[in-house]
Amino acid sequence: MKPHRHIEALQLAHACVELGARLRTIECVSGIGQLELRRIFFSNGATPPCGRQPASEDWLFERAKVPGNVEAAMFAVIFHELTESGVGVGPALIGAYRLYQARCRETPRVSFDRAFDIVCCLRGIWSSREVRLALTQCETCASRHLVPFAGCGTRQPDCPFCELLARYHKDRRLRTAFQTSTRRVDSTRPPQAAPRAYA
Ligand SMILES: [Zn+2]
Repeated sequence: MKPHRHIEALQLAHACVELGARLRTIECVSGIGQLELRRIFFSNGATPPCGRQPASEDWLFERAKVPGNVEAAMFAVIFHELTESGVGVGPALIGAYRLYQARCRETPRVSFDRAFDIVCCLRGIWSSREVRLALTQCETCASRHLVPFAGCGTRQPDCPFCELLARYHKDRRLRTAFQTSTRRVDSTRPPQAAPRAYA
């Protein structure tokens, strides 16, 4: 690896460590092997998070409910906008996660490792050999949200933003999690212009 590439890889790896990533995630994003990562970042007795990597499809469409799906969509839209503007996938993953984190009023429902897995499934890269997720635009509210990629054979889920708006005034937990705004919750715009769904 050329010196400037190695410096970029170390910067990516360091950002991943700061965001609490598992070794496998750091290895994929930075391209640095796990032995070297342990030597550089975890030689002082610190241990990286362990356990199974999150699997986002089951979580999104079976367990995450409305708030999790809304937050996953917010992250995915920011990531998409960053890559569309020319940012590489590694820096876009980290930048999008930090922007998403900054918008959360509560502990983020999407961990960095899960955000990594969402990117893998959206792009068919790193730990995913094929595209398994896509962003789609709701015909009712025009927000973008995550759905199974066409051909995966899973039932298309309802728009979480429509569900959020329908339940917002009846559900105190949703009002706590998402900031009150006279503007609609919208994931169709670039992050710099998007109405803030989170304080
Ligand atoms: Zn909708």
